[in-house]
Amino acid sequence: MFTTIRVIVLMFLCHILFLTPKVDAGVVNRFEVEKYGDVIWEVPSKKKQVAITFDDGPDPVYTSQILDVLKKEGVHATFFLIGRRVEKYPEIVKRELKEGHEIGNHTYNHPSFHTISRHKVVVETRKTEHLLDPGHHSDYIKLFRPPGGTVTENSLKVLKKEGYKVILWSWHQDPRDWTNPGSERIARHILTNLKNGDIILLHDSGGNRSQTVAALKIILPRLKEMGYEIVTVDELLKMHPRYNEFHGTEMKKKEEVPSLIE
Ligand SMILES: [Zn+2]
Repeated sequence: MFTTIRVIVLMFLCHILFLTPKVDAGVVNRFEVEKYGDVIWEVPSKKKQVAITFDDGPDPVYTSQILDVLKKEGVHATFFLIGRRVEKYPEIVKRELKEGHEIGNHTYNHPSFHTISRHKVVVETRKTEHLLDPGHHSDYIKLFRPPGGTVTENSLKVLKKEGYKVILWSWHQDPRDWTNPGSERIARHILTNLKNGDIILLHDSGGNRSQTVAALKIILPRLKEMGYEIVTVDELLKMHPRYNEFHGTEMKKKEEVPSLIE
């Protein structure tokens, strides 16, 4: 009898061990963290609003082209910036701000976030935050996007402590523009999957981004025809039904950040 039970238990354990998909224990589970508003993939919204985000800039060639298209269409976007590139091309960031776009922190060196230490998360975020001139933005929600969109439990703890809201993107709004699949394909991916409150992921740096620029020229007029308003992530967050609960208390003056760059 006991032998039979032992065999059944053993079979059950083998089943769990071999058939359960292997999950990296350190990476946060969307369905556990999304309800607290610490990490945002998209915003449940009744309004026809979407946000367009660009990662990995600033770029001396493509960011300016993207800014030209956005200006022509009278649209504001959100740029997640890499600190070491901000140091190289500060004028582009100034233009982004001057033209009413929103900027967010995308680390200093773009390290992998899969195994990053807590200390390194602090260094990477603060170095870039210092460059983004916090004095300019004393009353805003600090936005952070981790490289590769990886959020571990460890890094999330640090990012929350640093006052950051982690912004990822809608799972159905990653057209993988960095693989250069063709501007038409990028545009089609975005337009056919579109839902209210989507956060769209594009890249303005990291390679030849001319397809992204061309796709943008297709997407923006079409979005307007479809009745969508394009807003910054900060504006989109305000449509969240639990906005005050999630973000209201953080709309306070940001403290001075100690400089890590001499
Ligand atoms: Zn990136």
